Amino acid sequence: SPAQGSILYLDGVTVSFDGFKALNALSLVIAPGELRTVIGPNGAGKTTMMDVITGKTRPDAGDVLFDGHVDLTRLDEAAIANLGIGRKFQKPTVFEKLSLFDNLELALKGPRGTLATLFFTLSGEAKDRIGQVLTLVGLTDKAKLPAGQLSHGEKQWLEIGMLLMQDQRLLLLDEPVAGLTDAETEATAALILDLSRDRSLGERSLVVVEHDMEFVRSLAAKVTVLHEGSVLAEGSIDAVQSNPRVVEVYLGR
Ligand code: ADP
Repeated sequence: SPAQGSILYLDGVTVSFDGFKALNALSLVIAPGELRTVIGPNGAGKTTMMDVITGKTRPDAGDVLFDGHVDLTRLDEAAIANLGIGRKFQKPTVFEKLSLFDNLELALKGPRGTLATLFFTLSGEAKDRIGQVLTLVGLTDKAKLPAGQLSHGEKQWLEIGMLLMQDQRLLLLDEPVAGLTDAETEATAALILDLSRDRSLGERSLVVVEHDMEFVRSLAAKVTVLHEGSVLAEGSIDAVQSNPRVVEVYLGR
């Protein structure tokens, strides 16, 4: 099958809202361990694509396969999350009054985690995992602070850390640098590159949707340009930015 060897395979994916095609025969193939950036003007279908992958929206047509064979269109959101597909939305949703450590502990306990479960003693393994994740996201020295004291950028990193508490094989990041300072944007690029290379918690693939072109450039990954629900161009940032069709979509009309 053409999906063989991919971590994520979309082919001919179509989503209609009252006859309007938010996705129109979208095809996208992500390799295991790949970092991919997705750009496109407002309304291009980026959010709808993420919604289809995570089971929030069911496509009217097309294939959505995980790991070359798992049909995501037949699974609900919880089952898809359990496969190791994590999504980070644009707006961070951390528990402001809890410490970073406790936020990560809750994330480890997953959907069953409640505040009450914080009173149970953590295994050494769980503590190690929290330590590893804090190191990865660069927040070790803030572990005991309430998350509410973090900057907007640090909250974004904590939330990425919360995703990493589960064994994620595919991470979907929705505009991870929206509203961040230049320094935070640079640090986020470094973190995403680390996440892409890090194998200490297993191999993972990342799909990053972002508007900030300089940020996309700094990731130096393959870029997919969406337009009107399908792929307009794919390649290096230089290749897509000099593609006349891409230039027209961004600057024309
Ligand atoms: P992007 O994230 O690239 O800005 P979206 O996936 O949000 O694009 O939207 C693609 C198109 O589909 C837009 O024209 C949007 O108005 C439309 N759309 C998205 N969700 C819905 C919905 N629930 N009902 C109707 N139209 C929608």
